[in-house]
Amino acid sequence: MTNLADPTRRHLLKTALAGAAGAVLGARVGRLAAAAGQAASPAASVQSLGTDLFVISIPGEANVVAHTGADGVLLVDGASAGASDALMKAVAALPGAGPVHTLFNTHWHPEQTGANELLGKAGTTIVAHENTRLWLTTDIVWPWNDQRFKRLPKIAQPNKTFYTTGQIDADIRYGYIPDAAHTDGDLYVYFAKQNVLVVGDAVSGAGWPVVDYTTGGWIGGMVGALQRLQTLANAETRVVPGRGPVLGLADLKAQYTMYATIYERLTTLLNKGRGPGEAVAAKPTKEFDDKMGSSDEFVRRAFESLWGYLSPDA
Ligand SMILES: [Zn+2]
Repeated sequence: MTNLADPTRRHLLKTALAGAAGAVLGARVGRLAAAAGQAASPAASVQSLGTDLFVISIPGEANVVAHTGADGVLLVDGASAGASDALMKAVAALPGAGPVHTLFNTHWHPEQTGANELLGKAGTTIVAHENTRLWLTTDIVWPWNDQRFKRLPKIAQPNKTFYTTGQIDADIRYGYIPDAAHTDGDLYVYFAKQNVLVVGDAVSGAGWPVVDYTTGGWIGGMVGALQRLQTLANAETRVVPGRGPVLGLADLKAQYTMYATIYERLTTLLNKGRGPGEAVAAKPTKEFDDKMGSSDEFVRRAFESLWGYLSPDA
């Protein structure tokens, strides 16, 4: 895969094939070369947050945070299964890399747990909140788009779970985000020495988030989590969200204000007996859409997420 992605090799391959098959096939060979480029794992880019802490970004994938140490590598989230090759190559290329001894699942989604099977088989400790482990032991269907998720095999399930807080050592601490922002199993990992807080999809840095109410997330929880995470951060803390660029305390504050405003409007509509379609039509995100993009799907999910938490017959 690496060889095909390498432009020099690709050029040589194209030249060789064109030479052998003649100019008539040139266009066809061009298409083949393009297809091979697409099939290869996209290259990862690495952002350094310190000499031993990195954000690995693979195009289309959620952020992965890697910490290197004498005993190997600790990962927060593992991207999707299709990106495992690219991720493991990027991890192996980090300064001071070694075997992955610990993998955190910030929540159960496939974009975070795609390396679980590979690393579980290699003996990696997979840490998650107990709710995340439970979701990974059951099949899940999203009712809004009928997307289906198969439970993970035993070897891929988290093998070390917790309920409140824990620590790897004095400098690497983790905890449950009990507000149920994105799911009911969200966790954060705090790297004290680097002052970096990794929060998974409890915070989005790239547009409107998915409110996965099927597994416990809700718009009120997003507001609660943004408030709670501010108490774990200071003005210098770098916050790594599940998607998008590294954020700061000011971003958490701004997002808190935005989602609290939207939450207020949606609960008002719910209390008036309105439905999700009417909530979308009411444009409860109107002053944020220029910056955030079309919010229809988000508003619908966020409104539906209120049913489980606020409806009198829930
Ligand atoms: Zn997610």
